[in-house]
Amino acid sequence: MRLKEIYSQTDKPIISYEVFPPKDDNDGKKLENLFEELKKLTAFSPSLISVTYGAGGSNKDESVEIIRRIKEELKITPMPHFTCVSTDTKNIKKYLETIESLDVKNILALRGDMPKEGTICDDFKHADELVGFIKEHTNLSVSVAGYPEGHKDCESMEKDLHYLKQKIDKGADVIYTQMFFNNEHYFSFVEKCEKIGIITPIIAGILPVSSYKQLSKMAQMCRVEVPKKMQETLEKHQDDIDYTKKYGIEYASEQCQNLIENNVQGLHFYTLNKAYAVSEILKNIL
Ligand code: FAD
Repeated sequence: MRLKEIYSQTDKPIISYEVFPPKDDNDGKKLENLFEELKKLTAFSPSLISVTYGAGGSNKDESVEIIRRIKEELKITPMPHFTCVSTDTKNIKKYLETIESLDVKNILALRGDMPKEGTICDDFKHADELVGFIKEHTNLSVSVAGYPEGHKDCESMEKDLHYLKQKIDKGADVIYTQMFFNNEHYFSFVEKCEKIGIITPIIAGILPVSSYKQLSKMAQMCRVEVPKKMQETLEKHQDDIDYTKKYGIEYASEQCQNLIENNVQGLHFYTLNKAYAVSEILKNIL
C-alpha cells in the first residue's frame, strides 16, 4: 500500500514500527530473532514497518533482505530508509531499481549524518534533492524526516522548517518525526508546519526508554529535550533495569494517549528490534 492510502484512514491512529539490520550477525541468528520479535508485534496490526539504512550504505544488503522478508513473510508494507550522503547518482539509481524490483511502494528519503571521516560524495547535498530525484525516476511514494525541536545542525527552527517545506514541495507525502519526550514540541511543530502550508501527515516518533545511559546518549546526539522529572527519575534508578523499563513503558503510554487525544494521525515506534516494550504500550493504549 502507498503512504497516502495508509494515512487516508482517519478513525484511529496508524501504527508503524522502525527496525534496523542487526550488527555483527555472522550466523544470521540476530536476524531470526528480529523476525521472532516482529511476529509478536504483528498482533497489533501495524500498517507499515520501516528499515534503517547506514549512511553510505554500510548495511545495504541486510536492509534489502529484511525489506523482502517483511513483505513476503509478514505480509506487511515495508518502507526502506535511504540516505544519500556519500553515495553517487549511479548507486542511488541502482538501489532504487533494486527496491522497485521487489515491488516496494514507499521510501524514507534522508540525507544521513555527515561522515566524520571518509569521502563525501557531492551528488546529493540534502534530502530535498533526493526526494526530487526519486520522484523523477521512480514510482515510489516518498516520506521524509522532521525534527520537532529542530535538526541538530540547523541554524534556526525557521530555516529548518523552510527546508522541510522544500522536501514536501518536491513531492514527499508524509513526515516521520525524530523521537521527542515532551509532546508540546510535537504540537508546536505541527502548528508551525501548518502555518507555512505543510498539510501532509506528521507521524510521531516514539521511543520507549529502557536505559538511562542510552537515553542520555541519544538525547545529546539528536538535541532532544528530556523533561526534568523524567531525567531525575531515570537518573535516580539508573541501576534498576526493571524499574527503568517499566517507567519507559508508562511514560510512552501516557505520551501516546495524549497524542491520540489530540488527533495524531500515526505513531511510529522506534522498536530497537525488541517487541516487549512496544507491545506493552500498545496494550495500554489500543
Ligand atoms: P536534510 O533534510 O537534508 O537536513 C539536514 C540539515 O540540513 C538540517 O539542519 C536542515 O535544516 C539543513 N538543510 C536541509 N535542506 C537544506 C538545503 N537545501 N540547503 C541548506 N540546508 C539544508 N540516519 C541514517 O543514517 N539512517 C537512517 O535510516 C535514518 N533514519 C531516520 C529516520 C527518521 C524518522 C529520522 C528523524 C532520522 C533518521 N536518520 C537516519 C537520521 C538522519 O539521517 C539525520 O538526522 C541527518 O543528519 C539528517 O537527515 P535529513 O534527511 O533530515 O537531512
